[in-house]
Amino acid sequence: MSQTPLPPTLHDALVQILGPSGVLTNPADTEAFCVDWRALYHGHCAAVLRPANTEDCAKAVALCHAHNVPMVPQGGNTSMVGGATPDSSGHAVVISTTRMNQIHNIDHADLTMTVDAGVTLKAAQDAASAQGLLLPLSISSEGSADIGGILATNAGGNNTVRYGNARELALGLEAVLPDGNVLNLMRKLRKDNTGYALRQLLVGSEGTLGIITQAVIQLQPAPRSRETALCAVESPQGALNLFAAFRKQDPSAIHAFEFMSGTSMALVNSLIEGASLPLEAPAPAYVLVELASPRADDSLRSLMEDVLGSALEDELVTDAVLAESESQRQSLWMIREEHAEAQKRAGASVKNDVSVPLAAIPEFIADATKACEALIPGIRVAPFGHIGDGNIHFNLVQPEGADPTAFLAQDHAMMDTVAEIVRKLGGSFSAEHGVGQLKTYMMPSWRGGAELQTMRRIKAALDPQDLMNPGKVLPPA
Ligand code: FAD
Repeated sequence: MSQTPLPPTLHDALVQILGPSGVLTNPADTEAFCVDWRALYHGHCAAVLRPANTEDCAKAVALCHAHNVPMVPQGGNTSMVGGATPDSSGHAVVISTTRMNQIHNIDHADLTMTVDAGVTLKAAQDAASAQGLLLPLSISSEGSADIGGILATNAGGNNTVRYGNARELALGLEAVLPDGNVLNLMRKLRKDNTGYALRQLLVGSEGTLGIITQAVIQLQPAPRSRETALCAVESPQGALNLFAAFRKQDPSAIHAFEFMSGTSMALVNSLIEGASLPLEAPAPAYVLVELASPRADDSLRSLMEDVLGSALEDELVTDAVLAESESQRQSLWMIREEHAEAQKRAGASVKNDVSVPLAAIPEFIADATKACEALIPGIRVAPFGHIGDGNIHFNLVQPEGADPTAFLAQDHAMMDTVAEIVRKLGGSFSAEHGVGQLKTYMMPSWRGGAELQTMRRIKAALDPQDLMNPGKVLPPA
């Protein structure tokens, strides 16, 4: 199926609210909004609506609600699970937040930023940084992912190990509910125990309960010193031992602790221009560690050198390079941030964004690698991720030269194989990317019984017509 035109009365009413450039119906204009970042899902939509503020968004949603038109909220469209892609019916409208892009206020007393949903994470970080503050959430997609998207997915990323996920940063929130009502929770209070924590219900709801339009985000003082190192280690256990060594000295100094397998690093080195390995020789695994502090002294340098010195002596780390300048630091981070892109260039891949208790990571990686290699000979097992949070992107890249379509036809077999090992180790099949449409089928077996039933009741209470991002998160009843 393809596009299903909006009823003319609805179309005209939407144009009156949003203006002609706020209602896109030409397939050449809407196409990019109907494909996900990985190009796994190719949907269709009746229109893309682009409100510029909450009021217009609420009016547009109320109209769609009255006409029974499904709505798919979309921010930067970087979802890894097809969360922002409409289905193929062509009935839905995509509601894009990209025109809601004002930063309203940075409050130095409360250390907060009041910001529209459509501001990209990078723009919000830059605005905080220009005022000597830090927005402590960082992900490789931050140039496109926006505040609404990161809250709707409860994004994690590189600094979760120090500051928590997006949920921990959201002090206040505003959302348009599926019937067009505006839920205004734009408070900036650290303490506010007055009834149910509705903003936390919206955070991580992946666009199924409403459209986030504004937020109050907690900031931090900007670090005045940073130390960044890329280390070669022999194994995931080696990476964890190094994490423990840093944590023992000063857990609050660890801003990021990222794991990269040798296989994934080799893809980056060979497929990304300017990303050659800055170490003597390839290793089985790597860690990118960043320490940061609001103090401007050289205590972090000593901490980094002490821990790495002992680790090299004990052969826990086999080689390491420390960034000596901001540009070297950025080069090291570039190598880490290009893993998703390198895997995309290497062919079809199946992504398992899982978490397990820290101590179980070595067993998980070993068992899952063995099981996947037995399932598909020649498969390239290329894990990387936020090991300090127990979060591994256990990604599986097609065998070289294999047919991508045939490889992807086995995606559920691969995902289920990995998930069963995760389950045995007490982990989660969805650590930070969310459920989207990719993993809804797994919900009954993982979140069945009262948990799934409670989710369905909440959804039915707020969106009885199932209009807000249908087909995402919750499987058909
Ligand atoms: P979209 O992709 O547009 O939407 C994501 C979901 O949120 C959809 O379900 C959509 O309907 C909903 N949504 C979007 N905006 C709103 C809104 N205003 N109100 C309500 N619902 C909304 N994720 C991590 O957590 N950590 C990482 O380290 C990380 N790294 C990534 C690296 C790359 C290269 C890529 C491509 C993705 C990565 N992601 C990561 C996944 C993705 O970037 C995050 O999920 C991000 O938070 C999505 O933001 P977005 O604006 O692109 O949202």
